[in-house]
Amino acid sequence: MKTFEYRAVTEIDEAVSTGGTFLAGGTNLVDLMKLGVATPDTLVDINQLPLHDVVRRPDGGLRIGSCVRNSELAAHPVVRRHYPLLSQALLAGASGQLRNMATTGGNLLQRTRCRYFMDPTKNCNKRTPGSGCPAREGDHRNLAILGASEHCVATHPSDMAVALVALEAVVRVSGPDGERTIPIDQLHRLPGDEPQRDTVLADGELITAVDLPPLPDNYPSAYRKARDRASYAFAVGSVAAAVKVWSDGTVDDVRLAFGAIAHKPWRARRAEEELRGRPATREEFLAAADAELAAAEPLRDNAFKVTLIRNLVAATLTQLVQGGPR
Ligand SMILES: Cc1cc2nc3c(=O)[nH]c(=O)nc-3n(C[C@H](O)[C@H](O)[C@H](O)COP(=O)(O)OP(=O)(O)OC[C@H]3O[C@@H](n4cnc5c(N)ncnc54)[C@H](O)[C@@H]3O)c2cc1C
Ligand code: SF4
Repeated sequence: MKTFEYRAVTEIDEAVSTGGTFLAGGTNLVDLMKLGVATPDTLVDINQLPLHDVVRRPDGGLRIGSCVRNSELAAHPVVRRHYPLLSQALLAGASGQLRNMATTGGNLLQRTRCRYFMDPTKNCNKRTPGSGCPAREGDHRNLAILGASEHCVATHPSDMAVALVALEAVVRVSGPDGERTIPIDQLHRLPGDEPQRDTVLADGELITAVDLPPLPDNYPSAYRKARDRASYAFAVGSVAAAVKVWSDGTVDDVRLAFGAIAHKPWRARRAEEELRGRPATREEFLAAADAELAAAEPLRDNAFKVTLIRNLVAATLTQLVQGGPR
């Protein structure tokens, strides 16, 4: 591992002005440093910043400090009661020990698990721009089917981020140029010809909190994750869903986001549009998923994700409209 300077900060201004790479739980960053993928000169430890609280907002929503641990957030009574899909997404991620360390900000900014990215002996446009993308011809079973580019087909691995996209969360940021807010759907980028940039954050910008708007009580929601083994594995595909149905059985409103199929958590706006005003039936759910997935461009070994997401959408929405776990 390359030698680096370590600085623990106690003030947000100090964190932002120090320059360097922020260290939160370290469960992704330290791994990448050990592999030689991340080589920061200075680590700015943000664990002593006052960013550990989950507080109720005046509008009934929540403000989640960026250093709140994933396990704490999943267990928070307001999250469990009013945002069950977020609690489910968090508990579907990693292991208990990792969730005890992993933070809200770090989870959003974790890097892709593409095996070429994590191996400095291999070419990778995300790690070394211009060096090529061996994944297109190589191992891409768990890579993107939507929104990819010829330069990169990586997926974003976070479960929590998918739930937050369905919840229309807003990310609060402090940086050298002051404070700003970013709707979470605009935080992560598609790869285009700059796959080295995962997000729209500028150098030195610190995520301070995530704001959750209230989700009405009659808007049941759920997160479903498909993975290669029962626990402790990244998603192969996932769906975060919330749906509100009129008394005549037609869809009033719906939120859908997909995970592990694109460079960013994928808000399925086309499918949502198709569903509003339509009967809340399995056939309609499948048709809406098909409309969204018509743009899919799978590679040799990942076309199965189209069927997987299609079935996850139908299963999750059917469960919700039939009054299943919420
Ligand atoms: C074996 C294993 C299995 C896993 N399985 C899953 C899974 O199934 N689902 C899933 O979602 N995740 C999974 N993870 C990933 C895990 O959830 C992430 O490593 C974790 O959430 C990262 O949070 P952290 O606080 O440790 O971030 P760190 O490792 O400290 O930081 C990650 C990145 O975020 C930056 N950063 C951190 N906080 C801030 C901030 N406030 N502002 C700006 N930048 C910041 C850091 O500089 C770094 O670039 C797994 C990890 C491992 C090791
Ligand atoms: S998919 Fe992206 S991260 Fe993976 S090798 Fe290609 S450029 Fe690198």
